[in-house]
Amino acid sequence: MSLIERDKKVIWHPYTQMKDAQNPIPIVRGEGVYLYDENGNKYIDAVSSWWVTIHGHAHPYIAEKVSAQLKELEHVIFAGFTHEPAVLLAERLLPLLPGKQDKIFYSDNGSTAVEVALKMCLQYWNNKGNTQKKKVLAFKDAYHGDTFGAMSVSGRSIFTNPFNDLLFDVEFIDLPNETNISNLTSHVSGHSSELCCFIFEPLILGAGGMLMYEAKYLDELLKSCKENEVLTIADEVMTGFGRTGTYFACEQLKHHPDIFCLSKGLTGGTMSMGVTSCNEKIFEAFLSDDKLKTLYHGHSFTANPIACAASLASLDILLAKETLTNIKRVEAQHKIFYKQIEDHPKVRTIRQTGTIIAIEWETGSDTSYLSGLRDRLYNYFLGKGIILRPLGNIIYILPPYVISNVDLAYIYNSIQQALDEI
Ligand SMILES: *Cc1c(COP(=O)(O)O)cnc(C)c1O
Repeated sequence: MSLIERDKKVIWHPYTQMKDAQNPIPIVRGEGVYLYDENGNKYIDAVSSWWVTIHGHAHPYIAEKVSAQLKELEHVIFAGFTHEPAVLLAERLLPLLPGKQDKIFYSDNGSTAVEVALKMCLQYWNNKGNTQKKKVLAFKDAYHGDTFGAMSVSGRSIFTNPFNDLLFDVEFIDLPNETNISNLTSHVSGHSSELCCFIFEPLILGAGGMLMYEAKYLDELLKSCKENEVLTIADEVMTGFGRTGTYFACEQLKHHPDIFCLSKGLTGGTMSMGVTSCNEKIFEAFLSDDKLKTLYHGHSFTANPIACAASLASLDILLAKETLTNIKRVEAQHKIFYKQIEDHPKVRTIRQTGTIIAIEWETGSDTSYLSGLRDRLYNYFLGKGIILRPLGNIIYILPPYVISNVDLAYIYNSIQQALDEI
């Protein structure tokens, strides 16, 4: 039996209608931006394998560090015990985060990092004896993950549809802009007695369609939250580790959040790990002789040493001068491509932040995520050896930073051809 036939017998794939799914492509090897299938076909991973592979596949330096850690200590319970990789990673991450962050709480992925952040905020007010501040403020098109708490603070969409009546009540606001910002800030001050926290994806709403908004309006929102005792959570699961042109998107702000959620690029895309960091103010609210004020949360694999070793290796690469040069180079290439196609009649809108560029296809009226256009585009690019996964009619490039200008040019040309042909 082929791998595809065996897969079909036993596997249920994520975000996939299994009834009529296309055959999955069996990948046997990765190197840099390339993935190779079992027939020797090569694909450019232009979406960093769901936004995680920041330094390219099978990076030898990360492999070496992970392999060494595997031989020393693969795992240990993290309640009552500690280890060097976890402490060192926290010591190195905290000073890199914008503002002042003081503590790191480890978990398993982006969704759990968000769950932990939400629990920290909700219990913060509970521990302070305030039972009124229970409402979470979030953006309408936000995406914060697929577990129930993370789904609750995400926009209601086809993804959440079957569960909508079970999700907790959240106050959704539009992305801030010049016109609505004063309404938004007065909403915050007007409802501060019930608002627990504001969770946001800084500068770019990823799964919501690569929607981008300006730092200065987010800054005003954060300022208003600070003034009105509303805690703030930056979900940098996608934007973290260089994606937006700075190490963290929040570096582009003047006001800084109380909490950060990190995952995806954290381990360089090697494996799953989540981080929720917080400042002293949050942490102190849990210090008490009253055991009920403890944060009773933890996962079996909290602070897994292998994941910590991968993250430490990924940080070494991230902080190397070449990486920042690569990030700036990708950004500059995107800017040139932007100018080349912005006036194309099939381009409804085009937007770019850092290493991400997103093009909204002009479709006439039908813009739904489920329209046939998405599949046509997906297959068109696969046929050209490029992995791009459009979000409905929005196609975006979110590449590993090591992608060459030659490969970028090939992707740009293919998009230009698609614009003419599809
Ligand atoms: C992907 C993503 C998550 C969820 O992370 P998982 O590791 O897939 O659970 C949360 N927030 C944002 C902004 C994301 O892009």
